[in-house]
Amino acid sequence: MEIGRRYSKGASVTVSVGGFVPKAHTPFQWFGQDTPDELQRKLRLLKDATPRNGVKIRWHDPAASTAEGIVSRGDRRVAEVIEHVWRAGGVFQEWREYFGLDLWTEAMEVCGLDVHEYVHRDREDAEILPWDHISAGLRREFLWDEWQEAQSAIHLEDCRWTACYDCGVCTDYGLEHLVGSLSPPAGGSQGTGQALPSVDAGPVPVRFVQSRERGVPPARAS
Ligand code: SF4
Repeated sequence: MEIGRRYSKGASVTVSVGGFVPKAHTPFQWFGQDTPDELQRKLRLLKDATPRNGVKIRWHDPAASTAEGIVSRGDRRVAEVIEHVWRAGGVFQEWREYFGLDLWTEAMEVCGLDVHEYVHRDREDAEILPWDHISAGLRREFLWDEWQEAQSAIHLEDCRWTACYDCGVCTDYGLEHLVGSLSPPAGGSQGTGQALPSVDAGPVPVRFVQSRERGVPPARAS
């Protein structure tokens, strides 16, 4: 691969790769996560394309990514799944020598839940997500637009140097949109150590919103 060619003879580089596990409150909360078979296929492609000398590839177990996906975007019913895994002897699941995907798939089955439904399918815009009653600042509509643009490989410029995209963070929390310069710093805006007002203001609070605010029916007790 190209990265290997940047190193002189005798030097080596280690590349760590892992399957992507979507998270709540991000544009990829609607994304259908790759199956273990698909991740294995992609790993094989990566390994085949990597030079044998000078580059080592380490990878995260694709099966473990599926278990992480169950927990990452699960609803309250996954609590019972976790208990089943534990009662079946599933401790230290983050350790390779103790992990077993079968513990998770069996627990999902016992609880009447479908792994594909929870992990591997794309979710719909109209679908009520388990965390929709919690606000972390970013508006759902903004995240959906970002999800659409991500699929088209479109990215937004850093809002510290552009017009505000009205994502909801500054406006909803009363933060001031101030920048230290009218132009982006050389080398990019990340890792510049710039002290933004929002950082000085302390942690951004997470608040619970009324279901009516989002037109979502109240969650039923289960
Ligand atoms: S300036 Fe604030 S509200 Fe506007 S896009 Fe950036 S973070 Fe969001």
